[in-house]
This record gives sequence, structure tokens and C-alpha cells, in this order.
Amino acid sequence: TIGMLGLDKNGNISGACTTSGLAYKMKGRVGDSPVIGSGLFIDNAIGGAAATGMGEEVIKTVGSFLIVELMRNGMSPQEACEEAVRRIVTTNPNHTNFQVAYIAINKQGETGCYCIHPGFKMMKYANGKNMPVVSGSHLK
Ligand code: ASP
Repeated sequence: TIGMLGLDKNGNISGACTTSGLAYKMKGRVGDSPVIGSGLFIDNAIGGAAATGMGEEVIKTVGSFLIVELMRNGMSPQEACEEAVRRIVTTNPNHTNFQVAYIAINKQGETGCYCIHPGFKMMKYANGKNMPVVSGSHLK
């Protein structure tokens, strides 16, 4: 999955995601990416979020919507991504067997990313520069 979030010079937030779905998925499976609120959610008044990884877990926690709502209630994008990952790992003891990663941006242009397993990288573009950001992770 590729998730993208943007903030333009007028302060408008946009987002997009594209995926081939999980490897070896069942025929007809629908992942999180096409489900608004799960793989992607934008509220132009607050911010946006996008997910990659085990789509079923993202759908069950309505992850991207959750992150935007947490930002609406005062969390930073980073705190909100961490809380959304925490929702999954505290309710699913099996979480060591799959990856979920989130990215988020708010109206101020602050960004966040967090994942279950180490190794997830986000690319941040600002002021004409691409900057790779290594995400923090629940499991070290
Ligand atoms: N999130 C996608 C899905 O569950 C898979 C992926 O991120 O690679 O369909």
C-alpha cells in the first residue's frame, strides 16, 4: 500500500492511497485501503491519516478515522498514530504476527508515523526536500 497525505500552501489537506492488497488474499477480499475511514481519512478542518499493513486490523479499529478524531481532540499526529497502534496491540494478542503502520498530518503541517514492527519508513517532503523518517514502533 502507498498512502500519501499533503498540505498545500493554502492550508488544504488531501490524501490518497493505492494498494494491491495482501499477498495470498482470498478472492473477493476487500482490504482497508478502499474503505474510507480505515485505510484513509481526511477532514480538511483537522488533518488526515493513512494506513498500511494488515487491513482487517485497521478496519476493525477504523484506524485512520480514529487518528483524525484523536487529533480533533487535541493529540498531535504522532500521539494519535501511537494511540491507534495501541488500540490494535492491546486488543489483539496476535499482533506480533502482523504489521500495521500509520502516517498522519494536521492542519499545522505537523506529521507523525508509528507502526507495530520496526522497519517502517515514511518519506516527508517539505521546503523542497525529501526526508526519510524511520518510524517508531511498538515492538522494538
Ligand atoms: N493494507 C493492505 C490490505 O490489507 C495491504 C498492504 O498494506 O500491503 O489490503
